[in-house]
Amino acid sequence: MADQTGLHRNTLTVAAGYDAADHHGSVKPPLFATSTFSYRSAQHAKDIHAAYFVSAPAEGKPAAPTYIYSRLDHPNASMLQTRLAMLDGAEDAAVFNCGMAAINAITQAFLLPGDAILHTRPVYGGTDGLLYTHLSKFGITPFGITDALDAGAIREAAHAAMAHGRVGLVMVETPANPTSGIADVALIASVADEIGARQGHRPFVVVDNTFLGPFQQNPLAHGADLCMTSLTKYAGGHSDLLAGGVSGAAGPIHTLKQLRTLLGSQLDAHTSWMVLRSLETMHLRTERAGQNARAIAEFLLNHPAVSAVNYIGFTQPGSRAHIVSARQCQGAGSTFTFKIRGGEAAAFRMLDRLRVIHMAVSLGGTETLICHPATTTHFNVPAARRLEVGIDEDSLRISVGVEHVDDLIDDLRQALEAI
Ligand SMILES: *Cc1c(COP(=O)(O)O)cnc(C)c1O
Repeated sequence: MADQTGLHRNTLTVAAGYDAADHHGSVKPPLFATSTFSYRSAQHAKDIHAAYFVSAPAEGKPAAPTYIYSRLDHPNASMLQTRLAMLDGAEDAAVFNCGMAAINAITQAFLLPGDAILHTRPVYGGTDGLLYTHLSKFGITPFGITDALDAGAIREAAHAAMAHGRVGLVMVETPANPTSGIADVALIASVADEIGARQGHRPFVVVDNTFLGPFQQNPLAHGADLCMTSLTKYAGGHSDLLAGGVSGAAGPIHTLKQLRTLLGSQLDAHTSWMVLRSLETMHLRTERAGQNARAIAEFLLNHPAVSAVNYIGFTQPGSRAHIVSARQCQGAGSTFTFKIRGGEAAAFRMLDRLRVIHMAVSLGGTETLICHPATTTHFNVPAARRLEVGIDEDSLRISVGVEHVDDLIDDLRQALEAI
């Protein structure tokens, strides 16, 4: 498709990044199963290496992809990067072989030894492990924000971090996994400006958008510098692949792509092709899963064995969480936690009775998944830090799929009887 101006996102999501005219009219993108690309001449070889290693992208424009060796870039990754950038409202995007590879590349690209890193709480278990164990080897110290909706609390954490060292990055996860806690991205971006004015280096604000994805939240429009998404979840959408993406301005994305070559974390051609295809139906899947999630959240709210339902759609009108989520989110997503009465033993009894809903970690697939975060996804987070943010023995996380909602509710009802 040559001219895509004025088209709706649901149209672009099946078109952006691919032009059939370039590929023998093939309606669907070919899969470029090759590790390397031939040069037309020795001079051509030199020219494209110069273009790759020497040129920085022109201001505001992604660098034209050069194909040399598939670890650097390849056509299927380029198509996906173009489409993802379009969905996130970004100049460019970089894809990685999983979400954690994307997070790792961001930390390695933009942090220096001795830096402080400011983050919302809780963060994904893998991100928590990276911040609190691995990065300490480089003298990097994490500082958690206790309330990411409150300017005072954000500034307090920022001052503690600045007292320690240069603040190199601000990592935001909103809604947070698994608590659905909301962070005010615009407010955090304004505090990042204040940090920049004080320390002479404005840290990038990175938002992990995995919980909602591009059809329900666009963090770049609210002041984030980089939007990171585990494409394993709603984008892939079928629990059959691992992938990650980062969207943002052409400059930092170029930096991430160059580092990706050195880290060896490029997304392979087949998986890029699968994610590109999955993006075509993402808006349909997120819409249906969202409807199912609302019905399930309402069922759980009214169930006597359930003590709380942390669903974004239920934030108190007038509360900061409600005001900020109304501004930032176009939907409530379909992954949330609820609490049962009776702790781990009751939770395990209930989980072991489920017949339709699968017990597994991960989220965003067509099938409904459930897990007990304290003993699975957040097993490795020390209990004190886990409990501070409300991930207790009573909490269960459900990722609602696209099945018939009555079957899901019936399954939950019969399983809750075990409590
Ligand atoms: C799954 C997940 C990640 C990590 O992504 P992978 O693709 O599994 O590496 C990061 N952040 C959040 C919020 C996630 O749910």
